[in-house]
Amino acid sequence: MTEASLTRRTFIHRVGVWTALAASSGLALQACGGDAAGDDKSAASVKCDDVSALDEAQKTQRTALGYVDLSVQEGKNCTNCQQNVPAADATACGTCKVVPGPINPGGYCNVWVQKTT
Ligand code: SF4
Repeated sequence: MTEASLTRRTFIHRVGVWTALAASSGLALQACGGDAAGDDKSAASVKCDDVSALDEAQKTQRTALGYVDLSVQEGKNCTNCQQNVPAADATACGTCKVVPGPINPGGYCNVWVQKTT
């Protein structure tokens, strides 16, 4: 093997690795309820983890219900939950009928219920 073929081979290998990584990260985003095409970047960029306005009981309830700011449940997030009270602006935090505090459209908790209306 020549130095040139090693370089070409290394380049092709690295392109393959990066392509596979890019494809798998898109799949991971879809698994989290996001959109690999980038249409749902708003939910991921919204931060709804400021609980400073909540009292201790509300913070405990939020934690006990397992609220997370970014869902890891495929196809389940606050946007498609019956309990969600969305903000007027889709890029802002909404609220929830069950979980106290700011709620991320892309969030999730243990009492998620499929939205029917
Ligand atoms: S119940 Fe849970 S999943 Fe449903 S909107 Fe409230 S925080 Fe989100």
